[in-house]
Amino acid sequence: MTHLCDDVLSTADWYKTVFEYLKGEFVNEKILKLRDGKLLDLYYSVLLVTYGLKRDYKEHPHFLRFPTPVSLVSPCGKSWDRLETHFYHYDPTLAPQGKTVMACSFYTTNGKYWIDLRKNDRAKYREEKKKFTDSLADLLELKFPGIKDDIEMVDFATPATILRYTNNWQGSAQGWLPGENIAASSPVKFTLPGLSHFYYASHWGQPGGGLPIAVIQGRDVTKLLCKHYKKDFRVIRPEQS
Ligand SMILES: Cc1cc2nc3c(=O)[nH]c(=O)nc-3n(C[C@H](O)[C@H](O)[C@H](O)COP(=O)(O)OP(=O)(O)OC[C@H]3O[C@@H](n4cnc5c(N)ncnc54)[C@H](O)[C@@H]3O)c2cc1C
Repeated sequence: MTHLCDDVLSTADWYKTVFEYLKGEFVNEKILKLRDGKLLDLYYSVLLVTYGLKRDYKEHPHFLRFPTPVSLVSPCGKSWDRLETHFYHYDPTLAPQGKTVMACSFYTTNGKYWIDLRKNDRAKYREEKKKFTDSLADLLELKFPGIKDDIEMVDFATPATILRYTNNWQGSAQGWLPGENIAASSPVKFTLPGLSHFYYASHWGQPGGGLPIAVIQGRDVTKLLCKHYKKDFRVIRPEQS
């Protein structure tokens, strides 16, 4: 289906937009270098394990970081010898009264492993996920005796999950990793060479990414559109609308 419009603004994944949707037809040397990993590395991807617990664990701080006696090993080649636990017991909207949700997250530079495994061998992907969450539960049991019996639900979002929901290249959580010069201007611009009436804005626009960058990008590309159409750029705060 084709929707006709005056301008197109993509806020989807940078790689998908430039090299798949636009077939790599509007690029320059810098963009190709970026694609080939010659300018910046991808930000880490994330393994996010979330447990639904039948107790609220309010006797524990909502966030803890602690070393473990044995390493937690991921089949993607990473291992960790410390854990972070985030008990959401301050948020009554996430679980029924008296219960809670707790999440542990881990960074990996090899999101591709999980993405490829899910694509090529779904049964093994599920098996590896189960092995990982079981090993994690064993380590949690050492710190919080009895927690294994309190687990009512397990959810494991891998880099393949991040890719499936957001299309972010190789499951990158925040776009590009900042380079050596964090003040350097970004190689990802709001426009592409040779393509008029097209704009691009997302966390890929500034290394480091994250929610603040996504918001700033949205504001700055709007300014650019206002300038193009000779309109004033004004911020209307909710209380003024
Ligand atoms: C587990 C995790 C924890 C994080 N924690 C933090 C944090 O604590 N603080 C922080 O600042 N940042 C955090 N981030 C990063 C932050 O979430 C992202 O940097 C931010 O959401 C990026 O916003 P975006 O709008 O650029 O891209 P996205 O949020 O990825 O939005 C892109 C959108 O485009 C849509 N899309 C893709 N392809 C198409 C298509 N073909 N058609 C239509 N729509 C399409 C996707 O569905 C998606 O909704 C975290 C990320 C993860 C994965």
